[in-house]
Amino acid sequence: MSFDRAGPDLGLDLDLDLDECVEHLRSLIRIPSVNPPDGGPEVAAGRDPLGGETAAARYCAEVLGDAGIAAEVIELTPGRGSCVARLPATGPATDPPLILLSHLDVVPVDAESWSRDPFGGELIDGVVWGRGAVDMKNMVAMELAVMLALKRSGASLRRDVIFVAVADEEAGGEHGARGLVEQRPELFHDGDGRPAAAALNEVGGYSITLGGRRFYTIQVAEKGIVWTRLRTTGTPGHGSMPHTDNAAVKLARAVDAVAADQAGRSARMTPVVAAFLAALGLHDVASLAQDDPAAASAVLANRVTDPVMRRSLDAMLRDTVTTTVLRSGKKVNVMPGAGEAELDIRTLPGTDQAELLAHLQRVVGDQASVEPVVALPAVEWPADAEIVGLMHQALARADPDATAVPTMITPGTDAKALAQLGIPCYGFAPLRLEPDFPFLELFHGHDERVPISALAFGLPVLGEVVARYVGGADAPKYRPQPA
Ligand SMILES: [Zn+2]
Repeated sequence: MSFDRAGPDLGLDLDLDLDECVEHLRSLIRIPSVNPPDGGPEVAAGRDPLGGETAAARYCAEVLGDAGIAAEVIELTPGRGSCVARLPATGPATDPPLILLSHLDVVPVDAESWSRDPFGGELIDGVVWGRGAVDMKNMVAMELAVMLALKRSGASLRRDVIFVAVADEEAGGEHGARGLVEQRPELFHDGDGRPAAAALNEVGGYSITLGGRRFYTIQVAEKGIVWTRLRTTGTPGHGSMPHTDNAAVKLARAVDAVAADQAGRSARMTPVVAAFLAALGLHDVASLAQDDPAAASAVLANRVTDPVMRRSLDAMLRDTVTTTVLRSGKKVNVMPGAGEAELDIRTLPGTDQAELLAHLQRVVGDQASVEPVVALPAVEWPADAEIVGLMHQALARADPDATAVPTMITPGTDAKALAQLGIPCYGFAPLRLEPDFPFLELFHGHDERVPISALAFGLPVLGEVVARYVGGADAPKYRPQPA
C-alpha cells in the first residue's frame, strides 16, 4: 500500500510504503535485541550469537544499503551495534541536519506471561505482536520507511537527514547514544560542523482519548533523573542479643520518612504541563494541584479512567521520589551492619536536583546518608519550533477532529544524550490508537503489540513532517500561523 501524499503544499512526492514498513517491523521483532544482552535465554539458546543489537543494526544497514543509502554499523562495544546512515543535502546544505533517532534494544520478556511468541513478529488480525512493537521498533520501521521513500523520491534536500538507531537505550546509553555523543559527535553534525537542528524520537505522537475527545501528544520535555542510594550503618551482632543500632531498622525508618515526604510533596506546574492539562480539559487539576494535592488527585481519579494515564498525569505535577530497591542483612540470626536502598528520583524542568537531595538528607536525618549515583537534568525544548509547527499541521490534516498538544514525559530517553550537543529532541512517533487500546501499559509490558491501522496513520504523518522540514529550495517553506 502506498500513500498519495504528493501535493503542492508538501513540495516532495513521497512514496511511502506501509507494507514495507510492517515487514521491517516484523523482521526487527524477530531479532531479539534484548538489553542486557547477556541476561536473556536467547543468548543461551544460541539465537543471539552476534549480540541482538548488532544483528538489528546490520539489518537496518542492509535495508538502507540495498536502497543506495550508505550506512555504518558502529560497535562501541562488541555486540552492541548501532546503525547510522545519512541522506546528504542536495548541494550545500542551507539548514542544519534532521536526525531520525531510535533505539534497537528491547527490555527482557517473561515469555510465560505472553499470549504469543514475544520474538515471533506475528501479524494477527491486523496487529503486529512482539517485544519492541511499541518500544520502539515501530518507530525504527517508520523511520526506515521514510528514509527509503526520501531516497526513492530523488527530491532535493535542504538539510542532511541522519538515521541513527542505537543500542543500549534501555540501560543508560553508554554503548549507544551517550557513547556516540561522547566519542563520535561528528555523526550528529553536518559537513560544516553544525549540530542537527532537531531530532525526532520515541514516546510522543500517539493519540489519547479523554472525555470522548482525541488528542495527540507532542513531546517537548522530559523529566530529569537522579538515581540515588540511601546507606545506613549499624553494629553487627547476634540476633539473639538485640541492641538499637540495627542497620535494617534504620533503613526501614529512612525509607518510610522518604515515602511520607513524597506523599506531602506539593505540586509545581511547569508551563508545558499547565498548557497540556488545560488542553485536556483538566484546568482544575492544574489550579488545585499546588494548594490541594488531594483534591487534584480526586479530580484525576474522576476524569481519567485509564490508571496508567492517571499515574502519568499525576507524576507530571511534581518531583517524585520512589524507593525501588532495599538491601540489608543476610541471615536471620545476624544483625546487619549495613543497609542500602535505591531511590528513583524524577525531577521537573527547573528543579535544583542538589537542593532536592539536601532536602532528602534532612528528611532521613542521621539514620542514613543520601548519595546520588546518576544525575541527568530534565530537558525541555521550544514548543514553537518550526518542526513542532509542522507536526501540528500534519496531524490536523490527517485527523481534523483531534487536538495536538505539547507535553512532558516522566521517563527518560536518549534525548538526554543529544541534549549534550544542544540538539532539540522531540518525541514524535505518531500513532492513531483506539480509545480502549492499553498503549501505555505495553511499554515494557506483556503482550506488547501495535495495530497496523496505527502505523497506517502514523507513517504518512511522519513522512509529511520530515518531507516539509528537509525539502529543498523548491519546497515552500513553512510559515507559522499568526496566533
Ligand atoms: Zn524506548
